Amino acid sequence: MTVNRSKVVIIGAGLVGSSTAFSLITQGICDEVMIVDINKDKARGEVTDLCHCVEYLNRNVKVTEGDYKDCGDADIVVITAGAPPKANQTRLDTLEQSAKIVKTIVEPVMNSGFEGHFIVVSNPVDIIAFYVYKLSGLPKNQVIGSGTAMDSARLKFFIGEMLHVDPRSVQGYTMGEHGDSQMCPWSHVTVGGKRIVDILKDNDEYKNVDLNEIVEKVTRVGFEILEVKGTTCYGIATTVAGITKAILNDENKIIPVSTLLEGEFGEYEVFCGVPVILNRGGVKDIVEVHMTDEEFMKFKKSVDVIRNYSDRIDIFSL
Ligand code: NAD
Repeated sequence: MTVNRSKVVIIGAGLVGSSTAFSLITQGICDEVMIVDINKDKARGEVTDLCHCVEYLNRNVKVTEGDYKDCGDADIVVITAGAPPKANQTRLDTLEQSAKIVKTIVEPVMNSGFEGHFIVVSNPVDIIAFYVYKLSGLPKNQVIGSGTAMDSARLKFFIGEMLHVDPRSVQGYTMGEHGDSQMCPWSHVTVGGKRIVDILKDNDEYKNVDLNEIVEKVTRVGFEILEVKGTTCYGIATTVAGITKAILNDENKIIPVSTLLEGEFGEYEVFCGVPVILNRGGVKDIVEVHMTDEEFMKFKKSVDVIRNYSDRIDIFSL
């Protein structure tokens, strides 16, 4: 009898990669976490430190340092290698550098015989996920960008804070670019089943709330964290762990991630954040929500931003 062991490879042992490893290990989401980084000392240091968690975890998780050739038996490869934007840059400004880095990663991973799922975290994530899809030749359902999954967690947090409810009782998400142009289809945001637009209407206390300001806050907060601590890591790490869990446990959980649109929302050949059903096969289906005209216009604008940047670089000629 063979027992299948779940293995997740994390490429990039920086703040995002090592925090993701920590989140996977402490939640016991998989049997093995392998870390790869061009900086071998950094990878070794993180692995050694993480190995020492095991005694106090609720299960034994193997943590290893590896190479691209060891990715063949992985269920998931998470790409976090990249350069976080500096204080005066947007995520889109890091495109060329990130594109060059992922190009050196995807080919050797595929040469290892890897047939699993890529979860792309490196920014600008929508465009980089599209490149990983193109470079890998894997089916579209197996290449997933973290997209607006973390932004949506932030959105729920801010709404929960405003209404004094648990963020997990908020249903809703932002869509489009994981970046400045993302939008929220407010007509689909509910709290305990009640539409947020009705909550604001029914309660004098909230009559002056401007929902657009909440989206602006979601967009801005990453940079506010960046300014004071250099990068963001715990939110994205826990988000990636959640995506990984949905895949490995075949959860059919709905999470807004970056995926290839092929006619959905009238868009083609572009990766962007939309709600999807995630299970063992990766992206099972896209939830095509019906937006108001104004929401739909904002969504289209955001998709245009991604496409314009995507068109600027030919990954194959880098
Ligand atoms: P970091 O500088 O701390 O770490 C990056 C790591 O990548 C380094 O250890 C570096 O050695 C490694 N690396 C570079 N080139 C490599 C290569 N060719 N092969 C293997 N490893 C390589 O950066 P970070 O803070 O961990 O951020 C990493 C990426 O994640 C950035 O692109 C950042 O913008 C992105 N990010 C995305 C989100 C999201 O929501 N999608 C959130 C936060 C950060």
